[in-house]
Amino acid sequence: MLKLVFTLAVIGAIYYFLIKKPQVTQKRQERADAETSKPKKGEEIMVECEKCGTFISTHEAIIKDGKYYCSKECAGVK
Ligand SMILES: [Zn+2]
Repeated sequence: MLKLVFTLAVIGAIYYFLIKKPQVTQKRQERADAETSKPKKGEEIMVECEKCGTFISTHEAIIKDGKYYCSKECAGVK
């Protein structure tokens, strides 16, 4: 009886490490991708420049620290 409980515990541990853990890391990766990457090609979303308020499409926008800028000057990029 004790052996059966131990076997179930081992199976549970294997399930936890093989199935649960990769899912958690995958979700973290997806979230990181969504935060850092630009919108997909073809998606023309108008955004407001953080500095001067000019509306530009995300295709043309410069993204710095997660904020949109209309030009390198506004973004403070040399
Ligand atoms: Zn601007």
